[in-house]
Amino acid sequence: RKQSVAQPKRIARGLRFTLTATYTILFTLLLVGVSLLFRQTLASTLRAQSQADLEQQWAVLKGYLRIEGDPGQTNYHANWYFDTSDPEENIISARVRGVYAIADASGQTLEHSATYQTLGFDRPAEIARVLASTQPVWGTRTSDAGVPYQIRAGWLYDEERKRKFFVAIGTSLEDKEQLLSRFTWLVVGIVPLMILAGYGIGWVLAGRALTPVMAIAQTAQRISGSNLSLRIPQPRVDDELGFLVATFNQMIERLEINFNQVRQFSTDVSHELRTPITVVRGQLEVALFTAKTAEQFREAVVDSLADIERLSQIVRALLLLSQAETGQVILQRQRLDLAEVAEEITDQFQIPAEGGGISLEFKRLSPHAAGQFDRMQIERMLSNLLSNAVKFTPHGGAIRVTVEEKDGAAEIRIADTGQGIPPEHLPHIFDRFYRVRGPSEQASPEKGLGLGLSFVAWIVRAHGGTVEVDSIPGKGTTFVVRLPPDETAPQPELPRPA
Ligand code: ADP
Repeated sequence: RKQSVAQPKRIARGLRFTLTATYTILFTLLLVGVSLLFRQTLASTLRAQSQADLEQQWAVLKGYLRIEGDPGQTNYHANWYFDTSDPEENIISARVRGVYAIADASGQTLEHSATYQTLGFDRPAEIARVLASTQPVWGTRTSDAGVPYQIRAGWLYDEERKRKFFVAIGTSLEDKEQLLSRFTWLVVGIVPLMILAGYGIGWVLAGRALTPVMAIAQTAQRISGSNLSLRIPQPRVDDELGFLVATFNQMIERLEINFNQVRQFSTDVSHELRTPITVVRGQLEVALFTAKTAEQFREAVVDSLADIERLSQIVRALLLLSQAETGQVILQRQRLDLAEVAEEITDQFQIPAEGGGISLEFKRLSPHAAGQFDRMQIERMLSNLLSNAVKFTPHGGAIRVTVEEKDGAAEIRIADTGQGIPPEHLPHIFDRFYRVRGPSEQASPEKGLGLGLSFVAWIVRAHGGTVEVDSIPGKGTTFVVRLPPDETAPQPELPRPA
């Protein structure tokens, strides 16, 4: 028992882990992806920003910078022209002059700022390349202090000397790099926490989603023959699990109904068999103690034999029914006209009907009602229906048997003007041992075993047909049997004459 409890728990835990792990992996990939993308975007935005900044400074520089003197002369240098009395121009020029260098084509540096020196001067080959280029040349360099700078190198054309001069300006990337690295550390710090939290939440949610599954498993374990009334509480949400629970509950309900039927059936059988056995036993005991003459013994034996006959009737009927219902009885189909068979059986009931003061009439309503049927079973079915009709119709009543072909099927209708069946009993009359009893009535053996209609139901089902009953208490009952002709049914092999 313990082992069987442990099994589903492990399965559920495995499922819970798988669900949570899958979800967490996806969540992690998503977070890392989004963070990388965000960092990339931030970095390129910052770069574009500092480029725009340098372009602006370049424009300013072109306006303020002039070359004076010629190579070899002492006054050969670059000069900045701006209005020193204008505070705005002061600020702008200070910014431009923060990181800059100017050199001529020979590689001689004319002017430079202190910061540019720590970045290292450009070699003549580099200067030549910039002078030959039509586009500004961008680059990054690190100062001696380890601060990164973005450099824009290009040339200015000096009208007076008809020469190009190499100019480089730069701006510190320190703030931007700091911002990026702060962002990176933030992500590195927060993402694992978010993943952990995501795993935790996922675990709880998966657990909650799987709870009904565990409830189903546990209930299923507790169910046995004695507590089939157990049901799994239906979850309020109408989802897949709700459907599973509903399906499971329906299955238990069907099991319960079947189980109860079987239980009821065994009770009924024991009851049915006990009564005649008690009677026989009583008769024989009485005979043994009180009978004096051979004639009295003989009488007791004859009575007992009659009861034993009833017993074996019940046992035979039960055996046949259970064989029929487990598919062990094979129909011997042959071509039959149902009207002919029905007329024959009705004739056989004329004498008992007359004895009960009942008029019994047969009528064929269409020329044909033929098909492949098992003659013996059809006769048994008709006998059971007719004997019920005779049994439950009082003196002066009437029974009418009609056969016709309707919608391709043979239809047999047995209508009586008898006592009828109360509607609450109608759903059960085809059950084994079911008999309708009035409040004052006792079960009397003469009234039948309660098996007749069970046979009728089986025979109709085996032929692929239907049986319907329509009854008004005090007015009468009509049974309607419809059998498809089934011309395709294989003919049973006829025994060859020796
Ligand atoms: P029984 O052996 O008692 O006839 P059945 O299975 O043939 O058993 O019928 C079940 C019950 O259905 C009967 O006990 C009877 O109460 C009711 N019944 C069947 N046929 C008729 C009918 N024609 N008129 C009234 N009641 C009927």
